[in-house]
Amino acid sequence: MVEKKTCEVDLGLDIPKDKKCSRCSGSAVIHLPYANKYMCRKHFYSHVEKKFLDTVREFRMVKKNETVALGLSGGKDSTTLLYMLHKLKLKLPYKLIAITLDLGLECDYNKKILDIAGEQCKKLEIPHHIFKLKEDIGYTLEELVEKTKTRNPCSECGVAKRYILNKHAKELGADKLAIAHNLNDTAQTVLMNILRNEPMRLFRYNEPLLDDSKFVTRIKPFLKLPEREIVMYGKLKGLPLLDKKCCPYSTYAFRSYVREEVENLEEKYPGSMFKILNSFLSMQKIFKENNKEEMKMTYCKKCGEPSGAEICKFCSLLERLS
Ligand code: SF4
Ligand code: ZN
Ligand code: ZN
Repeated sequence: MVEKKTCEVDLGLDIPKDKKCSRCSGSAVIHLPYANKYMCRKHFYSHVEKKFLDTVREFRMVKKNETVALGLSGGKDSTTLLYMLHKLKLKLPYKLIAITLDLGLECDYNKKILDIAGEQCKKLEIPHHIFKLKEDIGYTLEELVEKTKTRNPCSECGVAKRYILNKHAKELGADKLAIAHNLNDTAQTVLMNILRNEPMRLFRYNEPLLDDSKFVTRIKPFLKLPEREIVMYGKLKGLPLLDKKCCPYSTYAFRSYVREEVENLEEKYPGSMFKILNSFLSMQKIFKENNKEEMKMTYCKKCGEPSGAEICKFCSLLERLS
């Protein structure tokens, strides 16, 4: 049986009550160590919303009249992203839909996040499409982990989720697929790819595969926002964010080790996650300019979807399952 751990986010709520915002005389609700600033609720809202909007603009993530499908798990980050993408519709006319993949986990957490996803979409009147992993590949996540005997459930799960979300987003006519990856996730992914010596995977990260009609361009509007700020924002806005039980497999494997290391680094040297992201973006730009051919994807010989290898990871997962 899988060991269940928690994955709480340290919101740093223990800031002294008399601390004032660095920009006004309001009471501080959060301290941002990397900027050495305290912020009141109002200034914190505008800080988060500006970061989000700047990222959407910088990477031209959403265009007028496009259809954006959000991969909505119902967890903290995607629930907050749903709220912010909904808010974005006030500034830019576009269509937002949500796609939830039910992994079939038999735990309270799974049921709760599915409920949250459904309730929030209903409240914001966003079309919500739910698909079951079992119906797409014939197995729930637990069955998949059992069957593949994997020591790295997140990797297998990630492959399946990526492929299935792309497939359904495409079927639903989406132009973009929004993923709630935050700054912490990005810093972890960059380091993991370096430590695993997977430079091509690294350079393709966050790279929109434009002009490839087979792939719905993935966008990450939280790319520059630390997880802690997303959760704090969502909580202050009264969103139903679960802060304790995560997926039972989340503490497995390499990512959880790297996650801890990145958190320690950030605590000791605030701003490290931004430095990792910015170094990566600069290196990616140089690499892209000099290696246009290498950046192109090939197509899987089995399913015809874009792939970095002859057989895509999803097809090789299906082979192992059959
Ligand atoms: Fe999948 Fe890992 Fe996320 Fe669980 S923690 S849903 S196994 S990627
Ligand atoms: Zn203020
Ligand atoms: Zn394939």
